Amino acid sequence: MNTPSATAARPARHDDPWALNADLHCHSAVSDGTLSPEALVARAHAQGVGLLALTDHDELGGQAAAMRAARGLGLAYVPGIEISVSWAHETIHVLGLGIDPGNTTLASGVAGVRAGRQARAREMAAQLAAVGIDGAYEGALRHVRNPQLISRTHFARFLVEAGHCADLGEVFLRYLTEGRPGFVPHRWARLSDAVGWILGAGGTAVLAHPGRYRLDELALWALIQEFREAGGSAIEVVCGSHTRDQYARFAGIAREFDLRASRGSDFHGPGESRVELGALAPLPDTVIPVWADWPAAVAA
Ligand code: AMP
Ligand code: MN
Ligand code: MN
Ligand code: MN
Repeated sequence: MNTPSATAARPARHDDPWALNADLHCHSAVSDGTLSPEALVARAHAQGVGLLALTDHDELGGQAAAMRAARGLGLAYVPGIEISVSWAHETIHVLGLGIDPGNTTLASGVAGVRAGRQARAREMAAQLAAVGIDGAYEGALRHVRNPQLISRTHFARFLVEAGHCADLGEVFLRYLTEGRPGFVPHRWARLSDAVGWILGAGGTAVLAHPGRYRLDELALWALIQEFREAGGSAIEVVCGSHTRDQYARFAGIAREFDLRASRGSDFHGPGESRVELGALAPLPDTVIPVWADWPAAVAA
């Protein structure tokens, strides 16, 4: 390690995983993002991302295109997914990183999770119609690129476009959330099933944006225990929906529960997301990055 040239020739991830600009959480138009997988990968590369995972909601349909695009750019890539889970009356998101996108059990599992979205969307539109907002189903559909994946985000884009709200943030304060018009309770995957599909597909299960859940400390503790018992091994620490205080809080929780830490922007599209691809703070050096011991084979 004394020869500077030899050190410089080695990719940063071997020497210092904390220095790698990993973005392991983002969305394409195959779920509720606005860019194609190819355009998303190109943007990540242009923003200086050094390791990327596309993690569409309940969908693997973008993986082949993302992998191809990443290979073409020499960008290290791991296949990913973000699975919607129902746990104790709360919706929880679990990321699967490094999964085999061809795994049939995972594919059929998430197909089942997607299945209820159409009927849910019809009910959401009916609720919105009841408060005087007509045409929401058709309006949301205009923003959908994948007919199997109609989400609240598509309704939110319609509500902004139709002038009911100024931006997506306002939409989720006034509509589509519990107690507001357009909220339809839904049963997603079971936590143990989602984690099991991810592990069965060779992946690492990561608890996404823990700071977003409306859970008190005890309930969060119970969630993490159950997640670990199911085989979950990592937690998002630095992510687009956490504050700096939450980086520190969840770094502490990662250590307490012996979980690896992940970092991801949760980017959904230019002009829409608060955080750009690859633009987050690095992981604190008190935690171990989830990618620290991934094989160098994830490199392009
Ligand atoms: P769904 O899976 O249909 O319930 O939609 C959930 C999606 O809504 C999330 O993945 C986010 O993209 C979006 N979303 C939820 N809350 C907010 C918010 N406060 N601001 C912007 N987008 C949000
Ligand atoms: Mn989303
Ligand atoms: Mn999420
Ligand atoms: Mn997400």
